[in-house]
Amino acid sequence: MRATIASTCPYCGVGCGVILQTEGGAIAAVRGDPAHPANFGRLCSKGVALAASAAPEKRGLRLLAPEIGGAPVSWEHALDHLAARFAECIAAHGPDSVGFYLSGQLLTEDYYVFNKLARALVGTNNVDSNSRLCMSSAVAGYKRTLGADAPPACYEDLERARCLFIAGSNAAWAHPVLFRRIEAARARNPALKVIVVDPRRTETARFADLHLAIVPGSDVALFNAMLHVILWEGLADSAFIAAHTSGFEEVRDAVREYTPRAAAAACGIGEDEVIAAARLFARAGPTLSLYCQGLNQSASGTDKNVALINLHLATGQIGRPGAGPFSLTGQPNAMGGREVGAMANLLPGHRDAADPAHRAEVARFWGVDRLPARPGRTAVEMFEAARAGEIRMLWIACTNPAQSLPAQRLVREAFERAELVVVQEAYRTTETARLADVLLPAATWGEKDGTVTNSERRISRVRAAVPAPGLARPDWEIARDFGRRLEARLRPGKPTLFPWRSAEEVFDEHRESTRGRDLDITGLSWAVLDSRGPQQWPYPEGASAGRARLYEDRVFATADGRARFVVAHWRAPAERPDAHYPIRLTTVRLRDQWHAMSRTGSVPALFAHAPEPRLAMHPSDLERAGLQPGALARVSSRRGSLHVLVEASEDLRPGLACLPMHWGSRYLGGAEAFGANSVTLAALDPHSRQPELKHCAVRVERAELGWRLVAFGSAPDADGDALFERLDFAMRAFAFAQRVPAGERGVLLRLADEHPPSAEVLERLDRAFGLAGPDTLRFDDPRRAIGRRIALEADAIRAVRLSGDTRSEHWLRETWLRGAPVGALRRYLAMPVAVPPGLDRVPSRTVCVCLGVDERAIAAALAQGTRTLAALQAQLRCGTQCGSCVPELRALLAAARAAA
Ligand code: SF4
Repeated sequence: MRATIASTCPYCGVGCGVILQTEGGAIAAVRGDPAHPANFGRLCSKGVALAASAAPEKRGLRLLAPEIGGAPVSWEHALDHLAARFAECIAAHGPDSVGFYLSGQLLTEDYYVFNKLARALVGTNNVDSNSRLCMSSAVAGYKRTLGADAPPACYEDLERARCLFIAGSNAAWAHPVLFRRIEAARARNPALKVIVVDPRRTETARFADLHLAIVPGSDVALFNAMLHVILWEGLADSAFIAAHTSGFEEVRDAVREYTPRAAAAACGIGEDEVIAAARLFARAGPTLSLYCQGLNQSASGTDKNVALINLHLATGQIGRPGAGPFSLTGQPNAMGGREVGAMANLLPGHRDAADPAHRAEVARFWGVDRLPARPGRTAVEMFEAARAGEIRMLWIACTNPAQSLPAQRLVREAFERAELVVVQEAYRTTETARLADVLLPAATWGEKDGTVTNSERRISRVRAAVPAPGLARPDWEIARDFGRRLEARLRPGKPTLFPWRSAEEVFDEHRESTRGRDLDITGLSWAVLDSRGPQQWPYPEGASAGRARLYEDRVFATADGRARFVVAHWRAPAERPDAHYPIRLTTVRLRDQWHAMSRTGSVPALFAHAPEPRLAMHPSDLERAGLQPGALARVSSRRGSLHVLVEASEDLRPGLACLPMHWGSRYLGGAEAFGANSVTLAALDPHSRQPELKHCAVRVERAELGWRLVAFGSAPDADGDALFERLDFAMRAFAFAQRVPAGERGVLLRLADEHPPSAEVLERLDRAFGLAGPDTLRFDDPRRAIGRRIALEADAIRAVRLSGDTRSEHWLRETWLRGAPVGALRRYLAMPVAVPPGLDRVPSRTVCVCLGVDERAIAAALAQGTRTLAALQAQLRCGTQCGSCVPELRALLAAARAAA
């Protein structure tokens, strides 16, 4: 049977609408929803791959039944057990001895139930979300200046703006469909000015008229200096300031010291660039700021947000078409979590947990005597409390803190110390699931109903298209059924706090909690969303449409209706480079991966653009460290170390290194390493409690690991996912271990250590790849610890293991990836070092994932004289589907034109 269901993409905050096609109870295809106002039918490479990630054969990655201590149990048993354990813990140690750690991937209804469970039933504010790592500085910035956590702009403003000020956001990769709209806006209006503030020359920065490549962490100095210039040159909107703001004089006095010269010194850019940015911001016409993790993930993230919003207030660039400070949410439902108040400092309906009147309102609404007053622990603090033994039981839903939190060693110690860790997850393979005492199988995207809110305050429906596998259930239902059991113990005989029979009923209760608040959605219902499509809030009772843009009436959500200027001074990052740790490390995002890769990591095609973990550094830094591109380096900070391959990048300033945040210990392991967050810093912003994931000091040096192994290929008796899992044993058994999906159903494994492992370990690896049979070519030189195994299938390479000497990796791997017959190259298979002529090269990276066009094909076209995007697309078809690769194609064309 076939069906077509409209839903929403589960990845980034753009919130694209998708159409799911089902066949025989499985998701057969996913395409963009032409009717959805966020994307009008477009999807990026991640969205395009959704069907592959939901394929029935991915069932092997799923958690299918509740487990206690690794043994499957029934739902009744698991929830009874948990209710008893939690009740005992709360009775013995108080409500703050437990904590709930949630996720911006949860639907609004899931979030709502967990929040009520924690605060109304358990009586703790220890409920927080991974949105703390993502958006909490934006929340604090909006609230401190505009009075409410409400992004005032909308996507349509991209088309109405005359100047886009993009700070700390590589939208070309992190919000690709939005970037398509930016490209289209400039194509329609070539006068549109684009300023990008980013320490790296990203694809977004290449698109800019003015790229300010500031020293990481110096944003506040730049924004204050821009305000200094705006005031000095009389470019401020004095009438707006006088009529609609407060606190201007203090900020005016504070920015006096931020001269362009002072800012240029702090930011490492030219004075003229500071002045040019300020003039464009103030004069170009409506100016829209777009910002993301580069501002938020910082120990001074709130100050960065505030300093940017000050610029909008000084120029009156808010509350009108094409203008405003517009934070781009990272996750699909970071906004929904904020709306229901599922963060330690918030309450439903944008209320504050610290406000006694707000607590009383919500307690009345929920029918309980009171809500807890004691401040809750935020994300990092929750794990610090668990490590200190203050939080004894952790319930983690739909997120992977053993990958995503900074300073992983501390996080792992928290897991060890906690008495009980409950992990509610769709995937059994995440780093966190492996550390759980109790696992609860959750339904995931395509299998459950609810709503999400995107960056522009637009609420969209998420719809179930297929049944969840095994015993997996929607997250809200799991929380509800646990809550009912727990309330039977904690408040017997009282009416239930968890009365809902459907996610829609949860939505209806949430909706009522917003009545009279800035985000009032009392006019919305699932029926309205179904009939009129996705809607922006506020959407109060009686409205016929949501509000596209906030503050058009110039009345802000503060007590006096005036927006507040707030003084923000530049502070150096929490950890500065020094003689021991001289390199600044920043974490970045890849184009085709999503967060901890629980879902995108199951689609081999999404690894084609960035096939392996790499630390990018300026060539001069590599040279100073004695490292060649492709070499293995040891990266150390005060918190830990990891090994990773390095690559050279002219897009970085000297002294800066970049490591994608996606690579957790599932991909980038080693005896002492826990992925990228082995080395990052848990310093917190004082207002938002958001950790400084974007900046820490590290040392990068040559890895002193003399023994190397590379193995790649598929296994004859397992699919790629099963082979990947089989290699688990190797990920902590060596000083360096890296594994990634490769080819259609294969894996690429790299290992390094000081000494070769035992023959038994090598045999185990060979068995995993099916390299132990009689049809395998073998070569061993025990004296030099060199080994070589190659298995062929129908004259094509199926799997290879090279240990001790890996010099022939590249041609063997390329031949394997191409699936080409070995043919005349067969004689080279037996030669450990010899490389066939013309094959001494690193396998080419895929640029256009949709159509499988690699760098080498593009380089060949450019070498033949192709110079325009249209010509390149006509020749190779690259960039003609989702368009995610178009910025990179433009960059390659620009480089070719410059070289010519
Ligand atoms: Fe999904 Fe890509 Fe759209 Fe983001 S831009 S919502 S990842 S399709």
